Amino acid sequence: MKVLVPVKRVVDYNVKVRVKQDQTGVELENVKMSMNPFDEIAVEEALRLKENNVATEVIAISIGSTQVQETIRNALAMGADSGIYVNCEKRLEPLIVAKILASVIKKVNPDLVIMGKQAIDDDMNATGQMLSGLLGWSQATFASKVEVVDKKLKVSREIDDGIEHLEITLPGIITTDLRLNEPRYASLPNIMKAKKKPIEEINVDTLNVDLNQKLEILKVEEPAKRDAGIIVKSVDELIEKLKNEAKVI
Ligand code: AMP
Repeated sequence: MKVLVPVKRVVDYNVKVRVKQDQTGVELENVKMSMNPFDEIAVEEALRLKENNVATEVIAISIGSTQVQETIRNALAMGADSGIYVNCEKRLEPLIVAKILASVIKKVNPDLVIMGKQAIDDDMNATGQMLSGLLGWSQATFASKVEVVDKKLKVSREIDDGIEHLEITLPGIITTDLRLNEPRYASLPNIMKAKKKPIEEINVDTLNVDLNQKLEILKVEEPAKRDAGIIVKSVDELIEKLKNEAKVI
Protein backbone atom coordinates (compact mmCIF):
# COMPACT_ATOMS: atom_id res chain seq x y z
CA MET A 1 0.00 0.00 0.00
CA LYS A 2 1.39 3.35 -1.10
CA VAL A 3 0.65 6.30 1.22
CA LEU A 4 0.89 9.93 0.16
CA VAL A 5 1.19 12.59 2.86
CA PRO A 6 0.68 16.27 1.92
CA VAL A 7 2.71 18.49 4.26
CA LYS A 8 2.40 22.27 4.50
CA ARG A 9 5.03 24.76 5.68
CA VAL A 10 3.40 27.15 8.15
CA VAL A 11 4.42 29.68 10.80
CA ASP A 12 5.61 27.65 13.81
CA TYR A 13 2.85 27.21 16.37
CA ASN A 14 5.01 28.85 19.10
CA VAL A 15 5.40 32.09 17.18
CA LYS A 16 3.20 35.02 18.12
CA VAL A 17 2.03 36.13 14.69
CA ARG A 18 1.98 39.81 13.76
CA VAL A 19 -0.32 41.31 11.17
CA LYS A 20 1.47 43.20 8.38
CA GLN A 21 1.05 46.96 8.41
CA ASP A 22 -0.84 46.97 5.11
CA GLN A 23 -3.25 44.30 6.56
CA THR A 24 -2.79 41.96 3.59
CA GLY A 25 -1.61 39.06 5.74
CA VAL A 26 0.79 38.19 8.55
CA GLU A 27 4.54 38.86 8.75
CA LEU A 28 6.58 35.95 7.37
CA GLU A 29 9.99 37.69 7.21
CA ASN A 30 12.45 36.22 9.74
CA VAL A 31 9.72 34.10 11.31
CA LYS A 32 10.32 30.47 12.31
CA MET A 33 8.45 28.15 9.96
CA SER A 34 7.68 24.46 10.59
CA MET A 35 5.62 21.59 9.31
CA ASN A 36 1.91 22.05 10.06
CA PRO A 37 1.39 20.06 13.32
CA PHE A 38 -1.54 18.05 11.91
CA ASP A 39 0.70 17.03 9.00
CA GLU A 40 3.38 15.79 11.42
CA ILE A 41 0.66 13.58 12.88
CA ALA A 42 -0.20 12.41 9.33
CA VAL A 43 3.46 11.53 8.62
CA GLU A 44 3.66 9.66 11.93
CA GLU A 45 0.52 7.65 11.15
CA ALA A 46 1.81 6.72 7.69
CA LEU A 47 5.14 5.61 9.20
CA ARG A 48 3.35 3.47 11.78
CA LEU A 49 1.35 1.80 8.97
CA LYS A 50 4.67 1.03 7.27
CA GLU A 51 6.24 -0.29 10.48
CA ASN A 52 3.21 -2.56 10.92
CA ASN A 53 3.70 -3.90 7.38
CA VAL A 54 0.45 -2.37 6.17
CA ALA A 55 2.04 0.34 4.02
CA THR A 56 4.99 -0.33 1.73
CA GLU A 57 5.93 3.21 0.82
CA VAL A 58 5.43 6.68 2.31
CA ILE A 59 5.73 9.71 0.03
CA ALA A 60 5.59 13.30 1.34
CA ILE A 61 4.40 16.07 -0.97
CA SER A 62 4.45 19.82 -0.54
CA ILE A 63 3.31 22.63 -2.82
CA GLY A 64 4.78 26.12 -2.72
CA SER A 65 7.99 28.06 -3.21
CA THR A 66 11.47 26.58 -2.89
CA GLN A 67 11.53 26.69 0.96
CA VAL A 68 8.78 24.04 1.23
CA GLN A 69 11.47 21.52 0.33
CA GLU A 70 12.72 21.93 3.94
CA THR A 71 9.36 20.67 5.12
CA ILE A 72 9.63 17.68 2.79
CA ARG A 73 13.13 17.01 4.20
CA ASN A 74 11.64 17.05 7.71
CA ALA A 75 9.16 14.37 6.65
CA LEU A 76 12.02 12.36 5.12
CA ALA A 77 14.00 12.75 8.35
CA MET A 78 11.03 11.38 10.30
CA GLY A 79 11.16 8.32 7.99
CA ALA A 80 9.23 8.97 4.76
CA ASP A 81 10.82 7.24 1.75
CA SER A 82 10.71 10.00 -0.84
CA GLY A 83 9.28 13.41 -1.57
CA ILE A 84 7.49 15.35 -4.28
CA TYR A 85 7.95 19.11 -4.49
CA VAL A 86 5.41 20.98 -6.59
CA ASN A 87 6.96 24.29 -7.47
CA CYS A 88 4.25 26.99 -7.33
CA GLU A 89 4.81 30.65 -6.50
CA LYS A 90 1.13 31.64 -6.61
CA ARG A 91 -0.99 32.14 -3.50
CA LEU A 92 -2.68 28.84 -2.73
CA GLU A 93 -6.18 28.17 -1.44
CA PRO A 94 -7.77 24.78 -0.62
CA LEU A 95 -9.44 24.20 -4.00
CA ILE A 96 -6.21 24.91 -5.89
CA VAL A 97 -4.18 22.71 -3.51
CA ALA A 98 -6.77 19.93 -3.89
CA LYS A 99 -6.67 20.20 -7.69
CA ILE A 100 -2.86 20.06 -7.72
CA LEU A 101 -2.88 17.07 -5.37
CA ALA A 102 -5.55 15.32 -7.49
CA SER A 103 -3.43 15.81 -10.60
CA VAL A 104 -0.28 14.41 -8.93
CA ILE A 105 -2.29 11.53 -7.43
CA LYS A 106 -3.35 10.44 -10.93
CA LYS A 107 0.35 9.97 -11.78
CA VAL A 108 1.55 8.54 -8.47
CA ASN A 109 -1.43 6.26 -7.74
CA PRO A 110 -1.34 6.06 -3.95
CA ASP A 111 -3.87 3.82 -2.19
CA LEU A 112 -4.24 6.17 0.73
CA VAL A 113 -3.73 9.88 1.41
CA ILE A 114 -3.24 10.93 5.02
CA MET A 115 -3.28 14.69 5.60
CA GLY A 116 -3.92 17.25 8.29
CA LYS A 117 -7.50 18.19 9.10
CA GLN A 118 -6.42 21.82 8.83
CA ALA A 119 -3.40 24.00 8.33
CA ILE A 120 -2.89 26.18 11.40
CA ASP A 121 -2.12 29.30 9.36
CA ASP A 122 -5.38 29.77 7.45
CA ASP A 123 -7.54 27.29 9.44
CA MET A 124 -9.40 26.37 6.27
CA ASN A 125 -10.15 22.73 7.10
CA ALA A 126 -11.21 22.08 3.52
CA THR A 127 -8.45 20.58 1.37
CA GLY A 128 -8.97 16.91 2.35
CA GLN A 129 -12.71 17.10 1.78
CA MET A 130 -12.27 18.87 -1.58
CA LEU A 131 -9.66 16.34 -2.68
CA SER A 132 -11.99 13.49 -1.84
CA GLY A 133 -14.77 15.17 -3.86
CA LEU A 134 -12.50 15.77 -6.87
CA LEU A 135 -11.24 12.17 -6.91
CA GLY A 136 -14.52 10.52 -5.87
CA TRP A 137 -12.61 8.70 -3.10
CA SER A 138 -13.90 7.72 0.35
CA GLN A 139 -12.99 10.06 3.18
CA ALA A 140 -12.77 9.88 6.95
CA THR A 141 -12.07 13.27 8.49
CA PHE A 142 -10.75 14.16 11.98
CA ALA A 143 -9.39 10.65 12.62
CA SER A 144 -8.41 9.88 16.21
CA LYS A 145 -7.65 6.18 15.52
CA VAL A 146 -6.94 4.25 12.32
CA GLU A 147 -6.87 0.47 11.88
CA VAL A 148 -6.56 -1.52 8.68
CA VAL A 149 -8.72 -4.64 8.53
CA ASP A 150 -9.09 -6.69 5.32
CA LYS A 151 -7.98 -3.84 3.09
CA LYS A 152 -10.58 -1.59 4.66
CA LEU A 153 -9.87 1.22 7.09
CA LYS A 154 -11.62 1.46 10.41
CA VAL A 155 -11.45 5.05 11.59
CA SER A 156 -12.58 6.51 14.91
CA ARG A 157 -13.60 10.16 15.11
CA GLU A 158 -14.28 12.22 18.21
CA ILE A 159 -17.58 13.99 17.78
CA ASP A 160 -19.82 15.88 20.21
CA ASP A 161 -21.89 12.78 21.05
CA GLY A 162 -18.91 10.47 21.67
CA ILE A 163 -16.72 8.42 19.35
CA GLU A 164 -17.96 7.62 15.88
CA HIS A 165 -16.58 4.49 14.18
CA LEU A 166 -16.43 4.51 10.38
CA GLU A 167 -15.27 2.00 7.83
CA ILE A 168 -13.97 3.21 4.48
CA THR A 169 -12.72 1.41 1.41
CA LEU A 170 -9.51 2.19 -0.42
CA PRO A 171 -8.48 4.31 -2.19
CA GLY A 172 -9.34 6.82 0.47
CA ILE A 173 -8.43 9.99 2.31
CA ILE A 174 -7.95 10.41 6.03
CA THR A 175 -7.56 13.74 7.77
CA THR A 176 -5.86 13.70 11.15
CA ASP A 177 -7.04 15.02 14.48
CA LEU A 178 -4.78 15.98 17.38
CA ARG A 179 -5.16 12.79 19.43
CA LEU A 180 -4.36 10.32 16.62
CA ASN A 181 -0.75 9.92 17.77
CA GLU A 182 2.30 11.72 19.11
CA PRO A 183 4.74 12.38 16.26
CA ARG A 184 8.33 11.22 16.66
CA TYR A 185 11.32 13.55 16.60
CA ALA A 186 13.76 13.06 13.76
CA SER A 187 17.03 11.61 15.10
CA LEU A 188 20.36 13.05 13.97
CA PRO A 189 21.31 9.93 11.90
CA ASN A 190 17.90 10.09 10.20
CA ILE A 191 18.34 13.80 9.46
CA MET A 192 21.65 12.91 7.76
CA LYS A 193 20.06 9.99 5.87
CA ALA A 194 17.19 12.22 4.71
CA LYS A 195 19.64 14.41 2.79
CA LYS A 196 20.19 11.52 0.36
CA LYS A 197 16.53 10.60 -0.12
CA PRO A 198 15.02 11.59 -3.49
CA ILE A 199 12.72 14.59 -3.97
CA GLU A 200 11.03 14.76 -7.37
CA GLU A 201 10.34 18.30 -8.56
CA ILE A 202 7.22 19.03 -10.60
CA ASN A 203 6.53 22.45 -12.04
CA VAL A 204 2.88 23.32 -11.44
CA ASP A 205 2.54 24.56 -15.04
CA THR A 206 2.96 21.00 -16.29
CA LEU A 207 -0.10 19.82 -14.33
CA ASN A 208 -2.72 21.69 -16.31
CA VAL A 209 -4.50 22.98 -13.21
CA ASP A 210 -6.59 26.18 -13.11
CA LEU A 211 -4.67 28.35 -10.62
CA ASN A 212 -7.19 31.21 -10.60
CA GLN A 213 -8.19 32.12 -7.08
CA LYS A 214 -11.82 31.98 -6.01
CA LEU A 215 -11.13 33.54 -2.61
CA GLU A 216 -9.97 37.08 -2.06
CA ILE A 217 -8.55 38.17 1.28
CA LEU A 218 -10.02 41.61 1.91
CA LYS A 219 -8.23 42.45 5.13
CA VAL A 220 -6.43 40.77 8.03
CA GLU A 221 -6.88 42.32 11.49
CA GLU A 222 -5.46 41.67 14.96
CA PRO A 223 -8.08 40.17 17.30
CA ALA A 224 -9.57 42.71 19.73
CA LYS A 225 -7.41 43.11 22.86
CA ARG A 226 -8.85 41.35 25.91
CA ASP A 227 -8.67 42.77 29.43
CA ALA A 228 -6.29 40.99 31.77
CA GLY A 229 -7.91 38.38 34.05
CA ILE A 230 -7.88 38.51 37.86
CA ILE A 231 -7.31 35.83 40.48
CA VAL A 232 -10.08 35.69 43.09
CA LYS A 233 -9.37 34.64 46.69
CA SER A 234 -12.45 32.51 47.32
CA VAL A 235 -15.50 30.89 45.75
CA ASP A 236 -17.68 33.51 47.49
CA GLU A 237 -15.73 36.30 45.83
CA LEU A 238 -16.06 34.52 42.46
CA ILE A 239 -19.83 34.22 42.85
CA GLU A 240 -20.11 37.83 43.94
CA LYS A 241 -18.17 38.99 40.85
CA LEU A 242 -20.13 36.75 38.47
CA LYS A 243 -23.37 38.13 39.95
CA ASN A 244 -22.60 41.80 40.34
CA GLU A 245 -19.79 42.57 37.88
CA ALA A 246 -20.16 40.15 34.98
CA LYS A 247 -23.91 39.79 35.68
CA VAL A 248 -23.96 36.29 34.21
CA ILE A 249 -25.65 34.47 37.12
P1 AMP B 1 -6.44 23.42 4.94
O1 AMP B 1 -7.64 22.85 4.22
O2 AMP B 1 -5.80 24.59 4.20
O3 AMP B 1 -6.73 23.76 6.38
O4 AMP B 1 -5.30 22.30 4.94
C1 AMP B 1 -5.56 20.94 5.23
C2 AMP B 1 -4.39 20.08 4.84
O5 AMP B 1 -4.13 20.18 3.44
C3 AMP B 1 -3.06 20.41 5.48
O6 AMP B 1 -2.97 19.89 6.80
C4 AMP B 1 -2.09 19.71 4.52
O7 AMP B 1 -2.06 18.31 4.74
C5 AMP B 1 -2.76 19.95 3.17
N1 AMP B 1 -2.19 21.14 2.51
C6 AMP B 1 -2.70 22.40 2.51
N2 AMP B 1 -1.87 23.24 1.82
C7 AMP B 1 -0.82 22.48 1.38
C8 AMP B 1 0.35 22.74 0.62
N3 AMP B 1 0.65 23.96 0.17
N4 AMP B 1 1.19 21.69 0.36
C9 AMP B 1 0.91 20.46 0.81
N5 AMP B 1 -0.18 20.16 1.53
C10 AMP B 1 -1.04 21.14 1.82
